[in-house]
Amino acid sequence: MRRPLVAGNWKLNGSMYSIRKLTDEILAGIDQIPHAEVAVCPSYVYLPVVQTKLQGSQVALGAQDVSDKDEGAFTGEVSAPMLKEFGVHYCIIGHSERRHIYGEDDVLIARKFAAARRAGLLPILCVGETLEQREQGITKQIIVRQLDAIVELVEGATAFAHAVVAYEPVWAIGTGKTAIPDQAQAVHGFIRKHLASYDASVANETRILYGGSVKADNAAELFSQTDIDGGLIGGASLKGHEFLAICGAA
Ligand code: PEP
Repeated sequence: MRRPLVAGNWKLNGSMYSIRKLTDEILAGIDQIPHAEVAVCPSYVYLPVVQTKLQGSQVALGAQDVSDKDEGAFTGEVSAPMLKEFGVHYCIIGHSERRHIYGEDDVLIARKFAAARRAGLLPILCVGETLEQREQGITKQIIVRQLDAIVELVEGATAFAHAVVAYEPVWAIGTGKTAIPDQAQAVHGFIRKHLASYDASVANETRILYGGSVKADNAAELFSQTDIDGGLIGGASLKGHEFLAICGAA
């Protein structure tokens, strides 16, 4: 039985004041969410303040990215062992904004995935196609390439044993366009089948989240699909009440 996970990706948003307030709002309502596991992913600099607030709660802390290096002369990087020191449990890897705005390729993403795993962080690996790729009918090839990179380049067949996959069609992120539940389920089912081609029991256990304009009013239908095990939530995770409503739907 896969326990649903809902993770809020706060991206490059917030201030010390608003991050504290948002964390307090989520903590105030979290007792009403008995079923789903909940995580929040603030910007690096806010990890310590959010970590302190989350102590003793059922909300897990996540980071939005990580270096592929553990230490050394790599200016501006933050390593997985450093994140671990701040109580980070999950780490988003290969988000489409990293792939498309910052040019991260499959090799770098696989190295980051491996770095997170080495330090005992649980990677949330984002995969998904652009609108152009969907229109060309190559969604499956793109996702296979993104998943295979992890298995081939670094990790081997059980790579996803301690990891989460997030299917995030790029055309649905921050656009207000959501994949309709059937459309999302079709890709999630395909991802699980592909994971099973590496290792069937790992595939059965791996949580596959949906991300892309999930809101309080569309979450329940998406999360009711067989292979959708929760969500990675961007914009709607910045409003405490809406994020809690999404968590409640999982
Ligand atoms: C995301 O960036 O991971 C995301 C899903 O964003 P949004 O919910 O705003 O589409």
